[in-house]
Amino acid sequence: MVTTHNLGFPRIGAKRELKFGLERYWKGESTRDELKALGAQLRERHWNDQRGLDLSPVGDFAFYDQVLDMSFTLGNLPARVQGFHGDPLDNYFRVARGRSATGAEEHAACCGGVAAGEMTKWFDTNYHYIVPEFTADTQFNLDTSRLVEQLREARALGVRAKPVIVGPVTYLWLGKAKDDSDKLALLPRIMAAYRALLDYFRVMDVEWVQIDEPVLVTELDPAWREAFVRAYEGFEVRGVKLLLTTYFGQLQENLDLACGLPVDGLHIDAINARDEIALVTEKLPAQSVLSVGAINGRNIWKTDLNAALDWLEPLAKQLGDRLWIAPSCSLLHMPVDLASEEKLDAEIRSWLAFALQKLDEVKLLATALNEGRSKVADALAANAAAVTARRNSPRVNNPAVKAALARIDAKLGNRQHAYAERAAKQAAILELPAYPTTTIGSFPQTAEIRHARSQFKIGALDQAGYQDAMRKEIERSVREQEALGLDVLVHGEAERNDMVEYFGEQLDGYAFSRFGWVQSYGSRCVKPPILFGDISRPKAMTVEWITYAQSLTNKPMKGMLTGPVTILNWSFVRDDQPRSVSCYQLALAIREEVLDLEKAGVRVVQIDEAALREGLPLRRAQWGEYLRWAVESFRITANGVRDETQIHTHMCYSEFNDIIASIADMDADVITIETSRSDMELLDAFDNFRYPNEIGPGVYDIHSPNIPTEEHIVQLMQKAAERIPARRLWVNPDCGLKTRQWAEVVPALTNMVAAAKTLRSQLQ
Ligand code: GLN
Ligand code: ZN
Repeated sequence: MVTTHNLGFPRIGAKRELKFGLERYWKGESTRDELKALGAQLRERHWNDQRGLDLSPVGDFAFYDQVLDMSFTLGNLPARVQGFHGDPLDNYFRVARGRSATGAEEHAACCGGVAAGEMTKWFDTNYHYIVPEFTADTQFNLDTSRLVEQLREARALGVRAKPVIVGPVTYLWLGKAKDDSDKLALLPRIMAAYRALLDYFRVMDVEWVQIDEPVLVTELDPAWREAFVRAYEGFEVRGVKLLLTTYFGQLQENLDLACGLPVDGLHIDAINARDEIALVTEKLPAQSVLSVGAINGRNIWKTDLNAALDWLEPLAKQLGDRLWIAPSCSLLHMPVDLASEEKLDAEIRSWLAFALQKLDEVKLLATALNEGRSKVADALAANAAAVTARRNSPRVNNPAVKAALARIDAKLGNRQHAYAERAAKQAAILELPAYPTTTIGSFPQTAEIRHARSQFKIGALDQAGYQDAMRKEIERSVREQEALGLDVLVHGEAERNDMVEYFGEQLDGYAFSRFGWVQSYGSRCVKPPILFGDISRPKAMTVEWITYAQSLTNKPMKGMLTGPVTILNWSFVRDDQPRSVSCYQLALAIREEVLDLEKAGVRVVQIDEAALREGLPLRRAQWGEYLRWAVESFRITANGVRDETQIHTHMCYSEFNDIIASIADMDADVITIETSRSDMELLDAFDNFRYPNEIGPGVYDIHSPNIPTEEHIVQLMQKAAERIPARRLWVNPDCGLKTRQWAEVVPALTNMVAAAKTLRSQLQ
């Protein structure tokens, strides 16, 4: 018999209950006990949702982040929060956010706010975890309370519980040594804590423990590979069974290592590593369980169940009871329930599966494997019909788009002339001073904007009324910018609630869910649009707003677009064609918009690629391939314009060293980046590479309410000028200003413009 299980369930709640509960608590509007009760309620609901599986995860719920949970379980708290004598949950929020909750600050005097833990992306997902902190002296101090409590709850509900923990090697790998010491030196100490934890599970009669080691799908140094051997040999006598889970990629050169570790079962992501299953089956010890992640845990499409059974059936025959099936990874990265999407187009809905539907697929596969396909013939037939309908739908396939794609050639991505020649022509037209000032696009999304948008959505405001309200906002930002004396203006993006959704809504080939929320970090969720078909642009998307804004001023107005790579990386995308094909389709559609803007007289167009870096594959060996099509897509989008049109791009992150050649290859005339917090050190990458075009290093940290002073900005720009010739520098904030207040933005930009003037005067 095949065993079914799940690696993790989305914790945020089908209606984002956890988000709202957390925010109430943080604002002091609810009590700690109410928040804890909400947690228990969600766990109970989610275990009920997973009924019918043989084993369900326990410990996958977290109030903020599963890695932070693990830090608390291991007693690895940063020194700055040790000695807190309030409730541990409040201390947990202090590490997560720098503070606990208004009203819960009983210890404000003795243990007030602290620096929040650093946050970074969980592998190649859009989920962010709190980075564990280490020093050479880190001691671990096991605290089993969270896991024991949740195990008790699960058992009380009759759940066959499988505790989930982050494995020791991945935990160390994910963390940061604050004193630059060798993290692996901590392995013996951390193993003592893990052994004690497993011993606890043994005492509690746990049969299986899921131990997540996703770093096994990345390129590991010999020392880290060796750490795996040392760690897992250290587990040998234990009394509980270990299921070692890998996901998000292939094991490749780590395959032998993973198969040779003394554990009781191995989970493989069969969506990414189907090809490795035969070899893994061969190499696994004879009694080991092989868990295959046969259902995509990261995407929202129905599985082709018959196709899955075609390869699962022989495997089941070969492995018998040793075969387990599950989604490919934790369902954390999926919305909860498709059933809530009543408003979604029925045809598109029939192609989709969210977390609950994915678990139904797992159960269906198991029944078919255990009792034969005939047992679930109707369900399989319905699934086949949906899969075929999707494949053949005219809404998915647009011959004109496919033909345009086939016509793409390298010339499409080339500017007429090289940067130097273009720059001279642009300078003659734009007549900008040295150190030109600009902003990144958005201005504060005020209460009035949000109100107008929600009124429009519910039909209380008509199209004309909405357009009027947005035009007023655009006018306001233009007036403010003129008063500030900025050189290149923006319209302010009042009409956009999201830089991807806004374009998705206007492109054919996109659909939108209402409740398709996925946790990004803590209480923050994103609702990725669904790219389901060939992409085309029925009509211009931004031209009206931008030309209106341009009509209000003689200063150059930047057209403002989101680039194809960012739209792709922040969407749920098709699984029936390579990502590169979807990206090229987006590139052609946005290219039309760029050309329409140019035709309408817009002289500067910015194409944001905020998410280009985060699309990098987990393995470096695959970076080149990704960067090749990502850069080519950007070039196709941007480079069809005349020499005289100035192209800007914007990227808000701070690591460029390893991709600088690709960034230069995009050949934008100007790139604006986030640098204010890194004290311009980031520019070293551009300097060392001799980046040839213009750069606007951010001088205003827009994540902070602090107002940068004129002196500070001048200093930052002087540092920049030590690395990049002054005549190629722009002065701008790190990113868009939509989350700030006008009351902050005006003084900050006043200082920025004053700083630019000072810098200009120093040039003479
Ligand atoms: N133009 C966008 C804005 O200003 C850019 C946002 C981003 O880079 N994340 O809001
Ligand atoms: Zn940005």
